[in-house]
Amino acid sequence: MTLSEDERLFRDSVFEFADREIRPLVREMDEQATIPRRLIDALFDLGVMAVTIPEAHGGAGATFFHAVLAVEALSRVDPSVAVLVDVQNTLVANAIVRWGSDDLTARCLPRLAGGTVGAYALSEAGSGSDAFALAMRARDTADGFVLDGRKLWITNGNEAGLFIVFATVNPDAGYRGITAFIVEREAPGFTVGKKEDKLGIRASSTCELLFEDCRVPRANVLGEVGKGYKVAIETLNEGRIGIGAQMVGLAQGALDHAIQYTKERKQFGRAIADFQAVQFQLARAATDLEAARLMVYNAARLRDAGEPFVKQAAMCKLFSSEAAERVTSLAVNLYGGYGFVKDYPVEKFYRDAKIGQIYEGTSNLQLQTIAKQVLG
Ligand SMILES: Cc1cc2nc3c(=O)[nH]c(=O)nc-3n(C[C@H](O)[C@H](O)[C@H](O)COP(=O)(O)OP(=O)(O)OC[C@H]3O[C@@H](n4cnc5c(N)ncnc54)[C@H](O)[C@@H]3O)c2cc1C
Repeated sequence: MTLSEDERLFRDSVFEFADREIRPLVREMDEQATIPRRLIDALFDLGVMAVTIPEAHGGAGATFFHAVLAVEALSRVDPSVAVLVDVQNTLVANAIVRWGSDDLTARCLPRLAGGTVGAYALSEAGSGSDAFALAMRARDTADGFVLDGRKLWITNGNEAGLFIVFATVNPDAGYRGITAFIVEREAPGFTVGKKEDKLGIRASSTCELLFEDCRVPRANVLGEVGKGYKVAIETLNEGRIGIGAQMVGLAQGALDHAIQYTKERKQFGRAIADFQAVQFQLARAATDLEAARLMVYNAARLRDAGEPFVKQAAMCKLFSSEAAERVTSLAVNLYGGYGFVKDYPVEKFYRDAKIGQIYEGTSNLQLQTIAKQVLG
């Protein structure tokens, strides 16, 4: 929990940006289910779209922990904008830094640092939790690979210019056929399909991707052919720490509002925060949040230290997403009727919290990972 001065300044500057530039847009972005391009450009200018990209490639060259702090700070104001930043850093840039050839890193990283949004496409209609049952085919031909199939639920699909796409080169080989590819938005045979209309994180785009005889050069294989499962597992192990941070940030955002509101709202002649029952509810929520934040920071610090962190990453996402649901639900309750209407900010945090238990591995899948680690 102790931040270095550099970490604290970074977190505070991202929060100040969010408070000033994002907060006024939150309701409109939620209603219109979109993030304006000028805001995305401002995120690039701020440096939060390339936190961990090495300086040599135009990024900030900072730690994974810094990326986690950025996601948390943005989520306090808007978890949709935060997940755009989260996917860019913890999934897309992270995977390319780790597995990209010199050619791929030189081609992709400066673009990701300089204005191109990234997306990470693993899930399909028939394969979510069982991600390695994916059906999308990649045919190996004389002039590169040809992709055919569909992806579903792809965050940033609407805005992205660069996609990491998982497909199998050999369905009979099971997970050993899975290969990761970099696909450009302009690739022939690739189109972005329907955008989902969602319960929460509505401004974050979630899209179907369609591939029909989509040609991808051999040089765009990320990692090795048949080793895409490793890219997927290992990136998601890290990515879920970012989702933990999103949940901590949004729970903090809701709690900030609830504390302020309960001090102002008067019933029975006094502020409702004067009632001990309300104080205890707030105290429990603050404790939940503190525990969640500790778990997220610990997982991120372990990852940066090169220590094992898979169990802690799964635990932090499991716990923080459940804590976020509890804290945001309490915030709605403490606002009373005002908590149920869109003129006040807490109902949106409550809707946004739900996704934490679903994406980057549902809570049951986190439990499965934790159980495997605990049982050995
Ligand atoms: C808003 C949003 C954004 C997303 N963004 C992306 C993205 O950017 N990229 C991407 O690739 N995917 C993305 N996803 C997909 C997401 O990761 C999947 O929805 C998620 O992994 C669950 O898969 P599923 O929806 O197929 O549910 P299913 O796998 O069908 O699960 C349904 C239920 O069954 C339970 N279940 C399944 N298997 C087991 C088991 N073995 N044991 C116990 N319970 C089990 C699950 O816990 C869940 O409760 C996104 C989804 C959403 C909604």
